Amino acid sequence: MSDTATLARPAAQKTEHFDVLIVGAGISGVGGAYHLATQCPGTSFVVLEGLESFGGTWITHKYPGIRSDSDLYTFGYRFKPWTGAPIATADEILTYMGEAIEENHLDKHIRYKHQIKSAEWSSKDNRWTIEATRTDTGETARFTASFLWMCQGYYRHSEGYTPKWKGMDKYKGKIVHPQTWPENLDYKGKNVIIIGSGATAATLAPAIAADCTHVTVLQRSPTYFIAGRNENDLANTLRQIGIKEEWIHEIVRRKILFDQDVFTRRALNEPEAVKQELLAGVRAYLGPDYDIEQHFTPAYRPWRQRIAFVPDGDLFQGIKAGKASMVTDQIETFTEKGILLASGQELEADIIITATGFNLNALGDINLIIDGKPLDFAKTVTYRGMMFTGVPNMVWVFGYFRASWTLRADLVADFVCRLLNHMKKKGVRRVTPALRPEDKDMPLSTWIDPENFNPGYLMRGMHLLPKRGNKPEWQHSQDYWAEKDQLPAINLDDAAFVYQ
Ligand SMILES: Cc1cc2nc3c(=O)[nH]c(=O)nc-3n(C[C@H](O)[C@H](O)[C@H](O)COP(=O)(O)OP(=O)(O)OC[C@H]3O[C@@H](n4cnc5c(N)ncnc54)[C@H](O)[C@@H]3O)c2cc1C
Repeated sequence: MSDTATLARPAAQKTEHFDVLIVGAGISGVGGAYHLATQCPGTSFVVLEGLESFGGTWITHKYPGIRSDSDLYTFGYRFKPWTGAPIATADEILTYMGEAIEENHLDKHIRYKHQIKSAEWSSKDNRWTIEATRTDTGETARFTASFLWMCQGYYRHSEGYTPKWKGMDKYKGKIVHPQTWPENLDYKGKNVIIIGSGATAATLAPAIAADCTHVTVLQRSPTYFIAGRNENDLANTLRQIGIKEEWIHEIVRRKILFDQDVFTRRALNEPEAVKQELLAGVRAYLGPDYDIEQHFTPAYRPWRQRIAFVPDGDLFQGIKAGKASMVTDQIETFTEKGILLASGQELEADIIITATGFNLNALGDINLIIDGKPLDFAKTVTYRGMMFTGVPNMVWVFGYFRASWTLRADLVADFVCRLLNHMKKKGVRRVTPALRPEDKDMPLSTWIDPENFNPGYLMRGMHLLPKRGNKPEWQHSQDYWAEKDQLPAINLDDAAFVYQ
């Protein structure tokens, strides 16, 4: 974050004002626009998006096989039925989002190629001043907004995370990160190593295996997977008997969420039994002789990291067919031809793909300034993972890690709309979360409890995130089943909200 407190402004520059400015046109920002238009009629708003189109995650990632790892009945919006197979490709998600925009006339509110650089709050004017760079012309566009709705996601879109390994400069082949997949990457007839074992590696390996000579998935430690058919039997039955899609969407969502709730609680209360069930699912594909213990048995409890769904067991089928293999080992060094492992084995490859995750990006690389002072985000305390002490008129959307992200995007949107309507009724222009007298000595800790959830990108970036207290109001609970009742019941006149 820059320490420039006052932003240089050309005097003649045109400034547009909106009641609400939404950052980002990913699944959260487009959902936010829908909810604003329907729940706060008469509110003026604009969505600024740095990329050339909507979709966020689903246009940034262009690697072969890119798909969701959660079902679209719950990753889809509450308000728009999903009618396809539960696991969807990026193209199918983009089509769905495009329809949501078109059906609700949201396109007129979205401005693409506007990369926001700074947002400065003035308590004198009760406004944010936002500056964006037009990525097509290089011009600066300036806006003011009474309320800032941060839907910028959680990772940097321009580059993925690649650890620095010894000898990388010696390697003669190509190193590719899935987040910046080269358009014409030729992997046909090539030996490929994919480093990593998360959802991305599990998606990529089967998608390219048939064309490659061989794909080796190299992991430091194993991950849990759930294998199953990419079908929803309940949805199929309801469709067969002529139930309308709106009802199917609602019923199937409820059934999936019910089953996930049962599964989550079981994973917490009887982790060993759940672990054995997950491993049995993998064994069913790979057979009794495959070394499940070494390659598919994680050291952590199920559910401490997101469990990736493997539709139709495609990853395991690739392994069984001999087109893909798993290696669980440590990287000693890159060599000219590939990778030397700690065990002494050398893997040779024409291409090495680093499916090693994201760079956490808490505030979309936006320079946030409050009354002339740069915001030190890590010093704030979060109000339910949505608002922050000392930061006026701003909400951000950070979805669920385990359940679908969009479930929370919809719930946070309801909260924002209720808050905006409440402020209008009260005739106030500013709301700032603040610790109440009874919260003053509350112990503070990291944004998320690493015992509860600990993926690499969060562990690497935790020091950049706001603090959490020891009361539900001051925590980002990550529990959809509690929040679905708690968020709509928030008392907006609680002393945690200071209105002016
Ligand atoms: C490959 C992959 C698969 C995933 N699959 C799932 C899944 O199946 N289920 C699930 O729940 N989650 C999944 N996730 C997590 C996923 O990122 C979220 O679920 C969701 O798509 C995030 O949506 P979002 O709109 O909040 O953020 P994003 O999709 O990250 O979109 C944010 C948008 O904001 C824009 N933006 C950011 N900063 C600025 C700025 N300064 N100025 C202007 N615009 C800006 C970005 O360009 C982007 O378009 C997946 C993630 C990845 C990477």
